Amino acid sequence: MSLLITNIGELVTNDPAAAPGDLLGVRTDAAVVLTDGVVSWVGAAADAPAADEVFDARGRAVLPGFVDSHSHLVFAGDRALEFQARMAGESYAAGGIRTTVAATRAASDDQLAAGVARHVAEMRRQGTTTLEIKSGYGLSVDDEARSLRVAREFTDETTFLGAHVVAPEYADDPAGYVDLVTGPMLAAAAPHARWIDVFCERGAFDEDQARTILAAGTAAGLKGRLHANQLGEGPGVRLAAELGLTAVDHCTYLSDDDVHALRDAGTVATLLPGVEFSTRHPYPSGRRLIDAGVTVAVASDCNPGSCYTSSLPFCIALAVREMGMTPAEAVWAASAGGAAALGRTDVGRVVPGARADLTLLDAPTHVHLAYRPGVPLVARTWTA
Ligand SMILES: [Zn+2]
Repeated sequence: MSLLITNIGELVTNDPAAAPGDLLGVRTDAAVVLTDGVVSWVGAAADAPAADEVFDARGRAVLPGFVDSHSHLVFAGDRALEFQARMAGESYAAGGIRTTVAATRAASDDQLAAGVARHVAEMRRQGTTTLEIKSGYGLSVDDEARSLRVAREFTDETTFLGAHVVAPEYADDPAGYVDLVTGPMLAAAAPHARWIDVFCERGAFDEDQARTILAAGTAAGLKGRLHANQLGEGPGVRLAAELGLTAVDHCTYLSDDDVHALRDAGTVATLLPGVEFSTRHPYPSGRRLIDAGVTVAVASDCNPGSCYTSSLPFCIALAVREMGMTPAEAVWAASAGGAAALGRTDVGRVVPGARADLTLLDAPTHVHLAYRPGVPLVARTWTA
């Protein structure tokens, strides 16, 4: 089965070879052929080969499907009252996670899966075609393992985040909790996960604990990533660079040394502007990172506490308005950047051989994603 998408006014390829000097590799008056779940041809509409079916994009923009490299979709309940209180002046601390832990533990597998399905559908309607999902609201051996089993029904990019916060049962014994996370919990989680993550932050896990947990995860065949430097400067970003992790997420408070370490290590800095929006914290500067030569991804961090948006178009608009990024940089960060943050080369680009994951906008150009914030511009997606 082949599909020709033609009459594309602006095709974002993220392929440097498509338009030298242009970050997004934009082609105009373009066409794409998708064959059996793979991009099989990209070029000028006038040169397009025949295909089994034809879709006329009528001059609109087509982009790679967005790659959301950071979400926490396995949870129950919501925290609207906590958000309301925060907007009335109370500050955000990592401890609110425990509210969601209690609700998640009380939910059935079917209830958790229904919640993930609902949020994945939201994401798809907003152009996301690849997503990562973390555990981290179970915090017991069984609840972390089943969270990851549920997540695996929706994506291969699953992340074991038993080290989200110390489980309530271990409030007086954090060392005992680290032993649990690196022992039986990891053993139960690893078959269902590709990544291991630690919330390395005051109130969560310190540098030594993060090192221990990541080392255990690596020994179990998982790849490391970190939540770091969200609430203040700290050791997490430096640790991510030292360990050569694929990505480190949040990066809200960075020293110059942190920025240089990220650049030198090639570790992707994943910015989560919805978090700053939803916590009224100051935004990090994407501009500073990009100008320093750091690879930047933008992701949603969709979760019920610090950021309950599933919308990458919203995050793109925030990255442009609040983080000093151009529309092109923000779109790149939410597609090719997200792919880089997951160590993937088969998504986030429209090139022959890539997965057939595309997003069609009801707009002539990607610029509209930031120019028209809050507007449902995604007309449809195609996925492999
Ligand atoms: Zn997160």
